[in-house]
Amino acid sequence: MEIQYDNFLHYSTRLLMSDALGDIYVELSKQKSANSRFMFTRALLRKHKMLVTTLDVDIEYNHPILSTSLRQNGNAFFKAKLYAVAADMYTKSLTGSDPSAECYALAMANRSAAHFHMGQYEHCLEDARCALVSDNYPSKLTYKLYERAGHAERMLGLFERAKESYAVCLTRLDESDMSAETKRKFKVAIEMVAAECEELMAVQKRTMKTSAVEHLVGGKNKNIPALSAFVELKMSKNMGRGVFATRDINPGDVVAIDEPYICGPFSNTTSVCHYNGCLKFEIALLRCPKCFLVYYCNKDCMNKDYKDGHHLECPIMHLIKSTPGITKINQLAMKWFLKAYIKMGLKKYYSIVDNFSESKIDPITRGFDEIGQYKSDNFLTAYSLDCNENKISMDVLFFFNCIAVDMLHYLTLSGLIIPECYIGTVGASLVRILTVLDLNSRKLNVNAPSVSYRIDRQLSTPFALTLYPTISLFNHSCDANIKRSGEISDRIRVMKAVQPIPKGTQLYCTYGIMFHIHDKESRQRVCNDRFNFKCYCEPCIKNWPTFLCMEIKLSTLNILNSSMEDTVASECIKFVEFSELVEPKDHVQHLNYLYSFIKLLYANVRRPFRLYEDCLKMISNAHSISTKNTISLYEHP
Ligand SMILES: [Zn+2]
Ligand SMILES: [Zn+2]
Ligand SMILES: [Zn+2]
Repeated sequence: MEIQYDNFLHYSTRLLMSDALGDIYVELSKQKSANSRFMFTRALLRKHKMLVTTLDVDIEYNHPILSTSLRQNGNAFFKAKLYAVAADMYTKSLTGSDPSAECYALAMANRSAAHFHMGQYEHCLEDARCALVSDNYPSKLTYKLYERAGHAERMLGLFERAKESYAVCLTRLDESDMSAETKRKFKVAIEMVAAECEELMAVQKRTMKTSAVEHLVGGKNKNIPALSAFVELKMSKNMGRGVFATRDINPGDVVAIDEPYICGPFSNTTSVCHYNGCLKFEIALLRCPKCFLVYYCNKDCMNKDYKDGHHLECPIMHLIKSTPGITKINQLAMKWFLKAYIKMGLKKYYSIVDNFSESKIDPITRGFDEIGQYKSDNFLTAYSLDCNENKISMDVLFFFNCIAVDMLHYLTLSGLIIPECYIGTVGASLVRILTVLDLNSRKLNVNAPSVSYRIDRQLSTPFALTLYPTISLFNHSCDANIKRSGEISDRIRVMKAVQPIPKGTQLYCTYGIMFHIHDKESRQRVCNDRFNFKCYCEPCIKNWPTFLCMEIKLSTLNILNSSMEDTVASECIKFVEFSELVEPKDHVQHLNYLYSFIKLLYANVRRPFRLYEDCLKMISNAHSISTKNTISLYEHP
């Protein structure tokens, strides 16, 4: 198996150095249960003193006098218009101050001014918000900070937010010690820029694409509310459980609307709200004032996330971020565990995971609750997703166990009390969570703005990681007949049919492997290495050619119904004209035409056929829109 985890040798190298690696993998494979594998690994890491002993990072340095003088130095540089040097001084001043002190808020606010003058509006806004949220900034100056935040937001095109900041600015004017006349003038100026924002907002609204409200075709499924009523679960020989149509499904029909069980920002992005129920992509977010490692769109999301478990995660965030493996999956695993722990309490959590046994699960009802419902927000539904645990090689399994040992250890350091008799089971549950996420989590993307004018060739950047238990029910095909639609950065995922799906046939999504682009051999390799299955889709069985080698012309060889030949031929000519005349960005206005053309070909032409694939691509692209053109590629160290 291909190893793609960071720092994979982190644990084994250290054991090798102390000459202890020896028969670890053999010993591990002798362990009868996940529970005993975890305990074995834990004892090993303990014996070799590989666990951290305290939460302390570097010794904190707090020096208010020095910090004040550094800020004053910064002010002198600021006056001399040497903004970069000033910002640097303010940063030094920040390192020397306690985040709960006034001098911290002052240095932060001054740095925001320096950033503003350098045209770094995002940083300006981040610092301004950080100073405001600290509640330590002198109230007579607060109006100024809101004014600056408003200006920065206006420069970033965030007109609605700017308007709000200006409004707050005006309410804080009375606390200032300006003279009545200055105050009057200031007020007029702010009201003017606020009005300007109002106008700009109207322009923005006119040009903005909006996503329509989507509805599941046929309504909600009785047992699986995130799926359409027109589908059911069935077993098949090659693929196990899958989703099948109980009626004819047409291109454009919505077949699934799912919310993630758990989600979080991808890598170190600073532009995504960390709160599980939000995940909004926005620039200049609010930093957690304690760990500085996670971001929120507002105080409300911050408070909710604290309740959901960030208060336990916050002191150990820097440790979780430095654990080897796939960092963002480790973070997500921790979030998942804490969410469940806070909702159920340790006792109930323990009994649920202790009772869970993969061998007892009936493959067709796997993940359903006691009353026969499959719901994405249910712990057990997510927990019982496939994780390929018995197909994972021993070295990888050992690695996951080590990560789980570390994570549980961090939690106990942060104050969570876990009775010794629970440790094995709770630890093994973390290993399972890690492996479920490793196999099933999906990236959420935003489009990169530099190429957004070419909708057919849009690049996208992952910004979040998500787990959709209901969407995980769909099997893969290298020729997907359903695809994700709507705003691609949306937390709620909508899946739409892109091809006709006759009653009785299976609905397939893609795990990112498509027959148009990749040849059979490479597709089979990825399916096997990454997802541990063999692909039995039609293009794989019949070895369809890739896009470049595909049949372009209509002939007696690929026409299924000879009486339709003339109609199909003339429609094909029309389609070619359409594709030359209509620009990709306008395809969305011609979806009904595209649906009817693909249906005609589906019924009358043998695939693979170039025009069918062209039409399919147009439909898929037209279904996904992106209104977010702003993306921050800046990442905090
Ligand atoms: Zn939020
Ligand atoms: Zn924090
Ligand atoms: Zn395939």
